[in-house]
This record gives sequence, C-alpha cells and structure tokens, in this order.
Amino acid sequence: MASGLVHDIQSQVIYGRTYREVHKKKDAPSKWLPGKRHRCLRHGWYRKFGKRWTFADPFPNEIPRRRQRIGDTAGSTRGEEYMASVSHDYLDRIWDFDSLTREERKYTRNYWEAFHIWLVLNPRLLREWAGVDVFDGRIRRVIDGAEVWEDEPNVVVEYRSLYERARFILHRKKDLRYMVELYGELVKDIQR
Ligand SMILES: [Zn+2]
Repeated sequence: MASGLVHDIQSQVIYGRTYREVHKKKDAPSKWLPGKRHRCLRHGWYRKFGKRWTFADPFPNEIPRRRQRIGDTAGSTRGEEYMASVSHDYLDRIWDFDSLTREERKYTRNYWEAFHIWLVLNPRLLREWAGVDVFDGRIRRVIDGAEVWEDEPNVVVEYRSLYERARFILHRKKDLRYMVELYGELVKDIQR
C-alpha cells in the first residue's frame, strides 16, 4: 500500500486538500490485516479492478455520476471525499507494481515516494503546476469554464503538516533521502 503520506500528498495535488481522515479511515484495517490483505475492507473500487475499471479507464462514467449524486444530496465536500477515496484505490492498485520483480518494486516505490516528497519541498511548483497555493491558502478551480482562485485557508495548515511529515520521513529513511537528493538535483538541472 502506498503510505498515508503519499496518499495525502497526492490528494493535495489533485484536490487541494489532503483528505487525511479519508485515507486514515480506509487504511485503518491494515493494523490488523497487514499488506495487501487490508484491502478486502474499505477498498471497494480497488477490488473492482479489471471488472469495472482498468488503468486505461480508471474513472468510468459511473464515478463522476456518483460524485454528482453525492454532491447534490450531501454537499460538494462529501462529493470530493468520495473522489479522494476512489483515487486512493486507484493509487493502491498502481502501487502493487505487479509486473515488477521484488527488487524493482522496492526501488520503484521509493522513487515515487521520493517524488511526492520532493513536490512538498517545492511549494512554488505546487502553486504554479498543481494550482494549490500553500502560501496564501487558495485553490485554482475551473468553474463554468472560467479559472478562479478560491480561498481555502485549510490548505496552509494541511501543507504545513505535510511538510513536517515529509522532513521527518527524510530524516528517518536513508533510501528516500538519497532519491530526493539524486533526482531532485537532476530536475533542478533540467529547469535551469
Ligand atoms: Zn489503502
């Protein structure tokens, strides 16, 4: 399973909010069902892989339809929580990296975890590329075809927490530190 930190970072990039409670709740069964087995609970979309969705079509029409229904009856935040939950299952399925060997899988997971952490360490990129302004608490959204920056003060608090967690994990895990230093520097070279 992708770590809680990776799920939270990805949600902040996609939706502007980390939806940490959604991810925590979904992965809580991993405490008593470690590894892949925890996904027999609270990971409905994950289990429907190959039947109702594929990597080529991860969010077929039924998903935006359900989101709309939830949004109409329970509010837009609930609708977005639902999307964060579906995206969680999608990421978990990618994170299996079934086609790779054990060694390749370990390296690839570290690489992608380091990439997510690197994004957190580059808040300007979050603002310019992902449309999440973690300095002033705003999210770029397209409403009726027009682009607007909407105020969302929670973004600042959630980002600060992600930043602290990212720093902490880099301090603890040598492999991730190595990846961030290696590839982070390469990206800087390309941007120059
Ligand atoms: Zn999960």
